[in-house]
Amino acid sequence: MNPGRLTGATATVGASSPSRRASVVRMPELPDVELYVALLRERIVGQPLESVRLKSPFVLRTFDPPLAAATGKTVRDVRRLGKRVVLVLDDELFLVVHLMIAGRFRWEKRGAKPAGKIGLAAFDFPNGTLLLTEASPKKRASLHLVRGAEALAAHHAGGIEPLECDLEAFSAALTRESHTLKRVLTDPRVFSGIGNAYSDEILHAARLSPVKHTGKLTPDENARLYQATHDVLTAWTERLRAEFAERFPGPGDVTAFRPDFAVHGRFGEPCRVCGKPVQRIRYADNETNYCAVCQNEGRRLADRALSRILHDSYARTLDDED
Ligand SMILES: [Zn+2]
Repeated sequence: MNPGRLTGATATVGASSPSRRASVVRMPELPDVELYVALLRERIVGQPLESVRLKSPFVLRTFDPPLAAATGKTVRDVRRLGKRVVLVLDDELFLVVHLMIAGRFRWEKRGAKPAGKIGLAAFDFPNGTLLLTEASPKKRASLHLVRGAEALAAHHAGGIEPLECDLEAFSAALTRESHTLKRVLTDPRVFSGIGNAYSDEILHAARLSPVKHTGKLTPDENARLYQATHDVLTAWTERLRAEFAERFPGPGDVTAFRPDFAVHGRFGEPCRVCGKPVQRIRYADNETNYCAVCQNEGRRLADRALSRILHDSYARTLDDED
């Protein structure tokens, strides 16, 4: 997973400066959320939720059942639902946390206060306190307390689990509607947990253009995309687990630009496969990165129409809040 920098790279134009990288904030995706789920399981399954302290009342988006119904209940499991983290409590109660872009967890000593302006909520357990923070003035992270499997299902956009489906199910989901690969991979109604960063990584590994239409994939390309999706998500999930085996991720760890990404966040830097500069298509406050040589027969894609296509799908994905 760490091929390092290639020598003989052709371009440093637009290479990311540390300040540019610091501005890359991305929504936690499947590998990141799975990391939180695994770390929380180790810490809070079997523990009673002693109290919930809300620093920002707006973070709680439900009122029935009341939050007080959750206190004193034991955590039976922690699960991922799309890009959400779900605390499964006694009495069919589910605490659903959506981190959105800037929401993060911290694990602190019992009784720790939600820090300054970024603290949203604190969940107290006998062995520690789980803090929910959001380092953004746009407070979009949310907390829902729901009762029953049906109410929980309402929080699921409907996408299939990319690591649990076979090639046939993957292809069926992929080609149900014909759109660009970038749009379909990041559509939470099609696939669960894939966002902007990992879709870039998957498409690079599959050597496919982000704007290729799903209806135009050959069987071979389809199989390549399925395999790349599996390989990229599995490798990063395992890698993050290993990196945080001993400690809970701190501020910035989950947001961090990952220097070993193949293309995402690496505009202008050399492709790790061919050495040519990584390209981008900018849209909204985000961008898609790809290698023109490895993914598009050497042709650059940057143009306004493509930007527009991706902008529309990006905006819609955010509206879906997955
Ligand atoms: Zn390349």
